[in-house]
Amino acid sequence: MMMNYDILEKKLIDIAKKISSQSNKQNTLSVSLVPIANRLGADIFLQFVNKPFRDAQISLNKPYKITLFRKSLDGIETSCKITSRDEKTITMRERFSVAHELGHLIAYNNLQIEPTLPSDKSEYWKQEKLAHSFARKLLLPEALITNWLNNNDVITINDCYKFASKLRVTLHVLSRSVCEHKKKFGFLKLVSGINEKSGKKILKVEDSICSGEFALPKHHAHILNEELVQILDSNQANYHQLNNWCFDKEYNQNNYKISWIKRIVGYASVNHRYLKIQEKYDTFWILFEHVET
Ligand SMILES: [Zn+2]
Repeated sequence: MMMNYDILEKKLIDIAKKISSQSNKQNTLSVSLVPIANRLGADIFLQFVNKPFRDAQISLNKPYKITLFRKSLDGIETSCKITSRDEKTITMRERFSVAHELGHLIAYNNLQIEPTLPSDKSEYWKQEKLAHSFARKLLLPEALITNWLNNNDVITINDCYKFASKLRVTLHVLSRSVCEHKKKFGFLKLVSGINEKSGKKILKVEDSICSGEFALPKHHAHILNEELVQILDSNQANYHQLNNWCFDKEYNQNNYKISWIKRIVGYASVNHRYLKIQEKYDTFWILFEHVET
């Protein structure tokens, strides 16, 4: 059966908004996921495995079971049920996974969307996108985000960090929502690395988030500009150094329309360890402001 995914997405988002506005926030801003899952008939399990092959999965046979996979640090493979009391042991990334799986559950139960096999790639990714949209709306109650944006004329990347941790969502989730509401903003997530040919330091674009109106360098693009690499790599980059930074022709050669990027309004670095590859990378987030011309 042909599905109209735009309509389904709107329906799913409406359900997410409703659930999230009704959720008990227990004196915090973060949405409590365990009670929501339980109300929908699902239990959440945290499973420690030596080789996590995926982030999470849901079994759509009753009783519904969401399993989060986390790398075992002591080699022991074990599993435990997550109750409301220990919800805080779930990481922000894992919270997104739970919300995503709940999206699949509601799509299945309320919108009659049959799960697809990953081999049906096109259908599979459409459903993944649905579950992602659901998760973002569930974790970021609309009223909170609009309040926050309305009360802050100027936002910095550090404000975003603080607000995201209050809501217990990753900066990535918040950034998507910020760009949806304020079209002038864009975010770049950069990872430091070495150019294999030249041996020089480069910044790789791991992700770029902006509203649909303009373009940013996409995943895997490299920032070759040595000056910017040095500034960000020095760990002493300050607002003034970055304030008037503009990207230059390098990108336009690759057909990235980013000449509009007027200034960097903030930057933050985090030490980030990717367990899968056991290498340490520095991750930088940059918030751009698109200045109207
Ligand atoms: Zn999924």
